[in-house]
Amino acid sequence: DNALVWLRRDLRTEDNAALYHALRAARRVWCVFVFDPEILEPLPRADRRVEFIRDSVVGVDAELRALAASHGIDGAGLIVRHGRPLQEIPRLAAALGAQAVYASHDDEPEALARDARVRGALADAGIAFHGSKDHVIFERDEVLTQGGGPFSVFTPYRNAWLKKLDDFYLSSYPVERHAGALAPKPAGETLPTLADIGFESTNLHALKLPSGPAGGRELLADFLERVDHYADWRDFPAVKGPSYLGPHLRFGTVSIRRLAREAHQRLTAGSRGAEVWLSELVWRDFYHQLLHHHPRVVGGCFKPEYDRLHWEHGKHADELFAAWCEGRTGYPIVDAAMHQLTRTGYMHNRLRMISASFLTKDLGIDWRRGEAWFARHLNDFDLASNNGGWQWAASTGCDAQPYFRIFNPVSQSERFDPEGRFIRRYLPQLAKLPDTLLHAPWRARPADLAAAGVVLGRDYPAPVVAHEEARERTLARFAAVKPAA
Ligand code: FAD
Repeated sequence: DNALVWLRRDLRTEDNAALYHALRAARRVWCVFVFDPEILEPLPRADRRVEFIRDSVVGVDAELRALAASHGIDGAGLIVRHGRPLQEIPRLAAALGAQAVYASHDDEPEALARDARVRGALADAGIAFHGSKDHVIFERDEVLTQGGGPFSVFTPYRNAWLKKLDDFYLSSYPVERHAGALAPKPAGETLPTLADIGFESTNLHALKLPSGPAGGRELLADFLERVDHYADWRDFPAVKGPSYLGPHLRFGTVSIRRLAREAHQRLTAGSRGAEVWLSELVWRDFYHQLLHHHPRVVGGCFKPEYDRLHWEHGKHADELFAAWCEGRTGYPIVDAAMHQLTRTGYMHNRLRMISASFLTKDLGIDWRRGEAWFARHLNDFDLASNNGGWQWAASTGCDAQPYFRIFNPVSQSERFDPEGRFIRRYLPQLAKLPDTLLHAPWRARPADLAAAGVVLGRDYPAPVVAHEEARERTLARFAAVKPAA
């Protein structure tokens, strides 16, 4: 039998579930990646994610060639198409004489709809479509409450997740052992350049974000050296604390089983850092299952009563939103974070919480506008995690904390960037202010500002909002919908 593996958010060969199942089932196996114009067309012409994917496609091609070569097969690799999967997948499967197409699950609503259409078109041609879990440790209905329903609170979910975890769920699919079924690519297949798919290069390579499966392995090895410190370091944006594996998890250039296994082994050996990091990977599963069970969170509040919240609208709100996007709010920690996002495509988790809280609770602007801005800029943008993170910060989601716990951007800044190392990196115009004044420059005496060469309103904006007043407005906004119990 012949089979085609359609790679999507699983851009690697190591421990790849769909590839493994195909190799086990068929005598000849090809792999394809499709650049889908429906996804690509709305994006700006220079987009780091597209470049990351294109690099990863090159990496997967090399991995497939090497895997096949280790079994004495020449000329294997990745087939790449640029077109609508609904046409491309059935056409290629038919041309290769494939009886089945294998793919890993993608549970985003639009991906599910796309897969249903592709499945139908394949069925019309007498070709089977097999999906399998690859992207998370537990998906869909695998972790449920005792009553058989989905969890909507994280801690009990994590407890149930950890209880269910065993070696079976952590072990890798031994793709290498079965790679003898990989078939050479048809003649004339080439890999497109970025320009071929209509894109320009970005600053991706200048950033310290190695791409492709090899880049994922490199970042993981680097992170495992410091994972024991994760619990202590992860909240400080100026410190190299987290793994930076976000985009690799998003595009599957690393295996979640491998990551969870590395963390679990160290946790068992007593590493507190590994325990906390594993817990972050559980958050990822948590938001994925939440999206699966409640697709209405796309565009709607998880807590439906908050769909009635009155967010700020109009010209002034639009100006505030623009100030937030462009890092001109006058709150240095927020502005530095927003510059990090647009310049690098990364934003530290602590800063995502602070800046999302600032937009929704200080500026009173609808979380959906911030969600969309992050979606456009984050290299690791993932619908489930981004939506979950935004709704958590806006108190419209599944956070166990009530809405009246509002982040104070100045005290967050003092606590998590005490020496202003992060702020100074992105706001050099404030570099000469003393550490204590950096978090709220408007509180500085004129003499201190003058000594640091800063004129508020010229070198750096005055604050666009007063936190204490904004806080009161937010409490009223929420109380109007749901009184604080
Ligand atoms: P690490 O700290 O090394 O964590 C490892 C991995 O665990 C991450 O790569 C991610 O896959 C997962 N993870 C960690 N924290 C979370 C979390 N809170 N929720 C879900 N998964 C988590 N994460 C995304 O992957 N994509 C997003 O679009 C996204 N948007 C967010 C928006 C907001 C408003 C907030 C508050 C958080 C968001 N996060 C998102 C979660 C988190 O900020 C990032 O996963 C993390 O900062 C990525 O950096 P890292 O890979 O170095 O993380």
